[in-house]
Amino acid sequence: MTKYALITGASRGLGKAIALRLANDGFAVIINYQSNKEAAEDTLKQVQEAGGTGELLPFDVSNPQAIDTALESWQNAHPDDYISVLVNNAGIRQDNLMIFMQEEQWSKVLDTTLNGFFYITRRLLKDMMTHRNGRIINMASLSGLKGLPGQTNYSAAKAALIGATKALAQEVAARKVTVNAIAPGFIATDMTKELDEAELKKLIPLGRFGKPEEVAALTSFLASDESAYITGQVISINGGLYT
Ligand code: NAP
Repeated sequence: MTKYALITGASRGLGKAIALRLANDGFAVIINYQSNKEAAEDTLKQVQEAGGTGELLPFDVSNPQAIDTALESWQNAHPDDYISVLVNNAGIRQDNLMIFMQEEQWSKVLDTTLNGFFYITRRLLKDMMTHRNGRIINMASLSGLKGLPGQTNYSAAKAALIGATKALAQEVAARKVTVNAIAPGFIATDMTKELDEAELKKLIPLGRFGKPEEVAALTSFLASDESAYITGQVISINGGLYT
């Protein structure tokens, strides 16, 4: 039976690396993105060139109607299947000091990271619970553990996602569905390309930014059968940055 993994925000960065890795692990990958169709098509092309299978499923993770419509159409196209791995990865930064932060910057970041998690996960949970098999992996951040100045919105969203991870893990454990969070430090993607890497890497004990493939390897383990006894955890991947 084909095993399906949905990765949100898989057109670029961490999500792309995760899609490629999970496809390599044997999952049929469902590549979500918001607007960057070309990049998403490139992810799919790379999946297929490596011998994997995948499909695109665009929707805005902060729009509950769009999510319901997209997931319904997926289900109609795959009446006998269910999605057993969900990687809630899509996320944005809209940094500003709190005294300057606009309402829109606050709500956009919360809507994408936190509400997105809620809108998608609630739709996929039932099938995972019925099949007594599921992996939910939430992309949190060092920022959600430590708090980073200039990111009250982002730190709040990621900390809330961590709280939700721990609560949901306890709700669904009896049905063999695990829920974990990954907390990356600085990983080289579009999201971090404007940061001063030369300065920041001095703070990182391992002396470099992480690679998307390294986060993908951790996600692969959490998505696998071998991680069955790990749930409700937040796993840091940050080169030794103190959290
Ligand atoms: P990125 O390179 O900026 O890519 C973001 C991805 O999310 C893109 O695929 C984008 O799609 C998608 N996306 C954004 N808003 C969306 C929405 N409303 N609906 C659907 N998809 C949406 O970011 P990244 O660095 O890979 O980050 C991935 C996740 O890791 C985020 O949750 C981020 O907070 C977290 N994280 C990253 C780092 C880091 O150092 N990079 C560290 C800690 C945590 P489009 O291409 O269509 O725009």
